[in-house]
Amino acid sequence: MFIENFKVECPNVKYTETEIQSVYNYETTELVHENRNGTYQWIVKPKSVKYEFKTNIHVPKLGVMLVGWGGNNGSTLTGGVIANREGISWATKDKIQQANYFGSLTQASAIRVGSFQGEEIYAPFKSLLPMVNPDDIVFGGWDISNMNLADAMARAKVFDIDLQKQLRPYMESMLPLPGIYDPDFIAANQEERANNVIKGTKQEQVQQIIKDIKAFKEATKVDKVVVLWTANTERYSNLVVGLNDTMENLLAAVDRNEAEISPSTLYAIACVMENVPFINGSPQNTFVPGLIDLAIARNTLIGGDDFKSGQTKMKSVLVDFLVGAGIKPTSIVSYNHLGNNDGMNLSAPQTFRSKEISKSNVVDDMVNSNAILYEPGEHPDHVVVIKYVPYVGDSKRAMDEYTSEIFMGGKSTIVLPNTCEDSLLAAPIILDLVLLAELSTRIEFKAENEGKFHSFHPVATILSYLTKAPLVPPGTPVVNALSKQRAMLENIMRACVGLAPENNMILEYK
Ligand code: NAD
Repeated sequence: MFIENFKVECPNVKYTETEIQSVYNYETTELVHENRNGTYQWIVKPKSVKYEFKTNIHVPKLGVMLVGWGGNNGSTLTGGVIANREGISWATKDKIQQANYFGSLTQASAIRVGSFQGEEIYAPFKSLLPMVNPDDIVFGGWDISNMNLADAMARAKVFDIDLQKQLRPYMESMLPLPGIYDPDFIAANQEERANNVIKGTKQEQVQQIIKDIKAFKEATKVDKVVVLWTANTERYSNLVVGLNDTMENLLAAVDRNEAEISPSTLYAIACVMENVPFINGSPQNTFVPGLIDLAIARNTLIGGDDFKSGQTKMKSVLVDFLVGAGIKPTSIVSYNHLGNNDGMNLSAPQTFRSKEISKSNVVDDMVNSNAILYEPGEHPDHVVVIKYVPYVGDSKRAMDEYTSEIFMGGKSTIVLPNTCEDSLLAAPIILDLVLLAELSTRIEFKAENEGKFHSFHPVATILSYLTKAPLVPPGTPVVNALSKQRAMLENIMRACVGLAPENNMILEYK
């Protein structure tokens, strides 16, 4: 059975005019490696830590500024939200299609709330905590191409033509602001597109982005802004001591107009200075150490990297399943071809390298979790190929081959072909990223040994379900397995309303 919403009643949870307060016992373990009677032993001690959570229930009017607004993802997301808001339906060759938010964890997935008269009861994920309704988001942003959003939607060739016709009047007047362009960081084949750029030094460019954010807030009367990079993949920036290794060095390097500071890092600096959350949806290392340092110092949320939309999402499910089943993946080979502008940009070796790095580490945590299968340091062969094939447009083809060792030296090979419009996968993920980033800035908590409430660490690991190469604070384990990432997010949200983590034990029926 499905219920639309619910309220938790328990002595540990209080609803006030402004917030939900919950007291939550975090059941965890403490490990010690001790010498007991001459031999070292691992001792595991269950431990319970009391936490208090406060969630501000005032849902703000949210503005979302996209870097690369006129790209396939930017125009698809903007059109998709307008279609939902306006209740647009359109004729396809199969049927009359209604706008929806399929593919969005927050808008189209469910959580289990409990059992009622022998039936499992589910509710929308978004009913856990008060969240911004995506229909109410005001969009804006930057693009190095000056095309209006209606023409950009047509250029993207993602939506059916009947839908495009209905969306055009809403999108024609949407014009991207000039963006920061540096040909050294993206493929040379993008140059033709760059007719809408901010001139000046790097410091002047940062100041212009800050001005743009302020002006957008003022003009749209939004309470909060989140900025998200969905522009072209850049090459990696070189990490250089004295240049981008600390906050001071990074800011001084901007002042000196150093060439090695990428446009994405400049946008991120501007956002952190303005205390505006910044999310990176592409694979490059926007968050150089100096930028992470700056975000921590100013306690501004940063999250990334690279949307986890298709092939990698499958990988972080399938390899988790195989290793979890005691099967040993030994070779993982992923081919992609696509014909959109992202594919054209990735046809240059330097930008492809960023994607290759981002896709390469996704099985590490799963492999490292099982020393019965893998010797220390052993790793499956893992190869990623991406080719640009203009004819297929946004309809990306992914072909994956997983070879594993099974019982008694047997081999199992699984082959998965997948065809799908890339931007229709990415758009709902962008939505989740901005909605969850906004929500997480309204949550404060403290452990029993902490005096004051504080927000989450500015490096937002809570968003990792949505990213290929989750950015984590220094010294924090990276979790790639999709089910663990989802459980982390859901269980933290449940804790905010005093609900225990979903443990799937269903003891009441045993
Ligand atoms: P796109 O090429 O259609 O759009 C990118 C837009 O960014 C273009 O309009 C371009 O003019 C603009 N741009 C480039 N540099 C800019 C800058 N410095 N400032 C402002 N605008 C700039 O690409 P897309 O298909 O929309 O993908 C966007 C990004 O998302 C890519 O980096 C891609 O790798 C990443 N990504 C996409 C998916 C997916 O499933 N679609 C998944 C993971 C990551």
